[in-house]
Amino acid sequence: MALNTRGLAPPANRIPLPLQPLPPRLYLSENAFLGVVLAAVEVFNKECLGILTGYRSGGSGIVVQRAVALQSAARTPREVRPNKAARGRVRQALASLSTLERPLGWFHSHPNQRLEPALHRLSPTDGASLEVGEIEVLAAIWPRRRSQPWSYNPRTHTLSGSLGDYNLKLSAWLKADAQHRPVALEIYCPFAHGYEELTGSAS
Ligand SMILES: [Zn+2]
Repeated sequence: MALNTRGLAPPANRIPLPLQPLPPRLYLSENAFLGVVLAAVEVFNKECLGILTGYRSGGSGIVVQRAVALQSAARTPREVRPNKAARGRVRQALASLSTLERPLGWFHSHPNQRLEPALHRLSPTDGASLEVGEIEVLAAIWPRRRSQPWSYNPRTHTLSGSLGDYNLKLSAWLKADAQHRPVALEIYCPFAHGYEELTGSAS
């Protein structure tokens, strides 16, 4: 790690994230990807909710290392009502760890029971519940009509593909300031692209 002029390493999670010229790119690790998609599948057709941890690699990157589902979230098909006390306990526990890994934000799912894509954008409520600087990974999930290899669509900033009997579309958002809606981030997930097994049926 580079040292500054005082010989001290810069705080790992205090690096500002400029939105210009480009929003930062979000790197999704294998663990984080599986944490999000398996949580979305597990509670389908209800919403899942969880926390994302990792670190910021500088002005151009956010690395999500882990996605941990919060079991106490009250899950309904329409909305997750997160247990605020549970969020607080998880944050406090993570903050006390002497590691570079830090809370980055949250993830949740938008399930749709019908054979058509679920909403892959944040609702106004979703956007309002994010604090400035936090990210949100959203997993739209609906029953699979046909198998789809995992791929990234730069036009919609979404990563989509099949897992078991479901189709999923992941998007990532950053609330950069209090005045504007969260901005969509580019998602980079080599694991999803390379794992052909994910596109097949389990049976
Ligand atoms: Zn939502």
